[in-house]
Amino acid sequence: MKKQNTKTSDKIPCANCNEELNSDTDDDDKKNIGCDFCDKWYHKKCTNLIGTPYHIAAIQDYKCDKC
Ligand SMILES: [Zn+2]
Ligand SMILES: [Zn+2]
Repeated sequence: MKKQNTKTSDKIPCANCNEELNSDTDDDDKKNIGCDFCDKWYHKKCTNLIGTPYHIAAIQDYKCDKC
């Protein structure tokens, strides 16, 4: 999984629900998952990684539904 550059102030919408991504949250399911095959970003809750602890999801390659 890609790491989001938290220094940027650009707001990136979730490619699934279009709601703003928030990299500064303690809620695992609201954390961001970046597709390794395209430049899209998702809430973890908007991917099939929902229910997977973030620290485990973060070390896996993620391929989104659109890829
Ligand atoms: Zn979402
Ligand atoms: Zn993708």
